[in-house]
Amino acid sequence: MSEMSSTSQEAEEWLHCLSGFSDLEHIHLNEPLSRYTTLRVGGPCDLFYSAHNTRLFAELAILVQKCKIPHFILGDGSNICVSDRGIRAFVIRNKCRDLQVGELTRVATGYPMMDLFLRTAQAGLSGLEFAVGIPGSVGGALVSNAGAYRYNICELVETIEVVEDAELKEVGPEWMGFAYRDSRLRHHGAPPATLISTTLRLKPDDRTAIFRRARDLQNQRISKQPWYASAGSFFKNVYNVELAQRLEGLPGAMREAGVVPAGYLLSACGCKGMRQGGAVVSSRHANFIINRGGATADDIRNLAETVKDRVWRQYNVRLEEEVIYVGDWD
Ligand SMILES: Cc1cc2nc3c(=O)[nH]c(=O)nc-3n(C[C@H](O)[C@H](O)[C@H](O)COP(=O)(O)OP(=O)(O)OC[C@H]3O[C@@H](n4cnc5c(N)ncnc54)[C@H](O)[C@@H]3O)c2cc1C
Repeated sequence: MSEMSSTSQEAEEWLHCLSGFSDLEHIHLNEPLSRYTTLRVGGPCDLFYSAHNTRLFAELAILVQKCKIPHFILGDGSNICVSDRGIRAFVIRNKCRDLQVGELTRVATGYPMMDLFLRTAQAGLSGLEFAVGIPGSVGGALVSNAGAYRYNICELVETIEVVEDAELKEVGPEWMGFAYRDSRLRHHGAPPATLISTTLRLKPDDRTAIFRRARDLQNQRISKQPWYASAGSFFKNVYNVELAQRLEGLPGAMREAGVVPAGYLLSACGCKGMRQGGAVVSSRHANFIINRGGATADDIRNLAETVKDRVWRQYNVRLEEEVIYVGDWD
């Protein structure tokens, strides 16, 4: 275990409960989280462990649930905004990378989505083309039902191995309660559950065709996405048929589907370029809040609130965050 100057009494108690854990010496204290988030913000957590072994990850997930230790499972930190004061909990970072490629691909949830696309595409398996450009882990993708260009990960899921009620079990996709950029694990007050691995159903296809499709999707992304530190789209798109009909300049397909991109509303409200400290609304894509350097989590959240308010006043629409606020906020 790493050295530290002071341990909170709670953290001491948690460590006592964790004394039976096989890899106790690699639990760290007061680890700053900004280095593990793509927004590059976030204060320290009380306890921190990087899991590289699926067996140890599951063992720890069972233990923290059994002992009721407040904990947070961290993937690649690309869909979260961690508060400046950090997280008063045990943060378990998931870097487990077991993989068996096949029409039924079984993958540990710490596996990066983009690498998973490459490995499966090389094997002539289609389904994950949309994942090119999504920087997170498979676990984070499941929790937010990640997707792009009308494809979502939920469509591929056959089974999920999960620790719930301190037990390791296998569940079907219905257990997740998938919806647009949503699942039961995103809901406030949901009982703790840790996703360990999943089985995805992929389709055999010609490798060249798979890479061509992925390249086309990637080209669309490159032309729109800013390069600065961000957490991707900050707000979810809005499903509102009446609003979609009324807005000028919305592509016909969106109008028909009743989808209004959050970026469209933010841009129409003049939010591009708005700034709070080091946080800026990208002038390239209004739904990206970027860290131009030195932004705090407060800067980002305050800016998000300001632009939400503008959209509310102009369109009577409450934008909902796709990014998850984590930790100790005022
Ligand atoms: C440049 C950029 C582009 C992006 N483009 C897209 C896009 O096109 N489409 C899209 O959907 N998203 C996009 N995102 C957002 C993000 O990459 C995805 O939501 C991604 O799937 C999050 O994965 P993560 O590992 O980073 O999750 P994290 O941010 O680490 O975690 C997100 C949530 O999942 C939970 N979680 C993670 N792993 C587990 C687990 N094993 N068990 C239980 N809970 C877990 C965390 O506790 C947290 O609540 C983008 C982000 C960036 C920075």
